[in-house]
Formats: sequence, C-alpha cells, structure tokens
Amino acid sequence: MMNESQAVPQSAPQGAAQGRPGILLEVRPDGLSFPEPPAFASKEAERIHVKERLAAGYRIFALQGFDAGIAGHISARDPVLPDHFWVNPLAVHFSRIRVSDLVLVDHAGNIVEGRHPVNAAAFAIHSRIHAARPDVIAAAHSHSRFGTTFASLGRTIPPITQEACAFYKDHSVLQAYGGIASELSEGELIAQALGPHKAVICRNHGHFTVGQSVEAAVFWFMRMERAFEQCLLAWNAGQPIEIDDETAMLTRKQVGSPRAGWFGMQPLMDKIIAEQPDLCE
Ligand SMILES: [Zn+2]
Repeated sequence: MMNESQAVPQSAPQGAAQGRPGILLEVRPDGLSFPEPPAFASKEAERIHVKERLAAGYRIFALQGFDAGIAGHISARDPVLPDHFWVNPLAVHFSRIRVSDLVLVDHAGNIVEGRHPVNAAAFAIHSRIHAARPDVIAAAHSHSRFGTTFASLGRTIPPITQEACAFYKDHSVLQAYGGIASELSEGELIAQALGPHKAVICRNHGHFTVGQSVEAAVFWFMRMERAFEQCLLAWNAGQPIEIDDETAMLTRKQVGSPRAGWFGMQPLMDKIIAEQPDLCE
C-alpha cells in the first residue's frame, strides 16, 4: 500500500523545457518506487543540469515569497570541481536569475567564474557547510516569513504534522546570534550546529536546509517553512497533540529521506522550467 506521500503520479511530468535535457519521471512497472535521479554521461553534463536546477530553485524561492532584499542564497556543489560551489549573484532578484548569472566560488572565497560579486554571508556560511558535509550537494537559506518568526523562539519543531515529522530528530538549533554571519567563524558555528542533520534553525535569524540534491535542499526549505507555519497556527489555536516517538520516526523515514526530498521537488521544478525557460539561458 502506498500512502499519500509515496504515491507516484499516474501522468508524470516530462521534465524541462522543450529541447532541453530534463528528468523523465518514469514509473516502474510495479508502480511502488520513487523514480531514480538522472544519470549523466559526463561531469560537464551533470554541471549543466545542476546549474539549471539551481536557477530554477531561485525562481521557485521568488514565487514562494522567500526574496528579502539581498538576503538569501542557495548553493550547489560543482560536479566538476567538488570543492567549489555555484551561488547567486549579489543583488539580482531571485525571479530574474539565469544559469549564466550563477557564480562559481572556491572554498577560499575566490570567484572562479561569473560576472557578479557574491553575498559575503553566502560565502562565509555555505563554504563552511559544503566543507563540513561532503555528502551535501546543496544548501538553502532565506529570510522567510515563518522561518524568521519561528527562529526567534530558539526551539526545535515538535512532531505535530507529517511535514514536521520530516525534520523529527533531524534538525538542530544554533542558540548564538551575533549579527550578520559574514565571517568564516560564524559560518563554522552554523555548520557545527547543523551537524549530520538536514536543517538548522539559527535563533533570531532563520533556517538553513541541506540536501543530497538541489531539489532536496529547496524542498526541505519549503517543507520546513510549512512546518513552522503549522506550529505557529496550532499553538495559536490550542494545544496540538504530538505524534509519539516511534510513529514520528516512521513518518520521517517515509517522508524525510534524501530520495523523497529529490522526488518531492520534481513537479514544481519541471513546471517552473517549462514556464520560465529563460532561466536556462
Ligand atoms: Zn540570513
């Protein structure tokens, strides 16, 4: 039996804009498994794909209202140079970011490719996360409405919904707040607080999510924002009932795996690439 979150769409979206490589969400004959992430003939081909998904991630952040001045960044580890990452150009609105605007930065802070400067905090934080977590392909952060509000509480998310369970015992809180994290030492603190988890809430600041794909990092950011909203609404309405430990862990396995994060993002990724093909330019 499949539950709601495991169900595979009967009519799978066909991927990227016409003429561009995309992911074909082929449903296996048994119809019971998540589709596989794409395989690539070369690291260069994978780089093109990662950059398109990253640009699409920014467009999605814009649609979700996660833009906030020059705050916010999603980074993606470069498949060709694994100790480098791609990030957004400073002061270009998320809704206008194209593949050709992305900036390649090494872990020492040097811009290796790109026409724009990058946000100092983006480098300070994301470089430390990518260095500390070799398994992480992408990291996402912005000053979202519910993320920044919930972060002021200095606490974790209780397991009160399916969305919340994706983060059950898989996120942490950094209790130190020292202003804008533009120094590497502050990035180190965030990376340490993140530990082996998929997310960290930085008190009085906001949340960071990581993933083994660009899709997963963006998906967890959106899911966590939804979980924050649910908590704040539920606490305002009454006393939400928490899911027991065993069931919360089971639910996390069902909805919180790296594969679930990748798969969960495919419909919206494909939609945005189809509707805004200029992002691939
Ligand atoms: Zn921030």
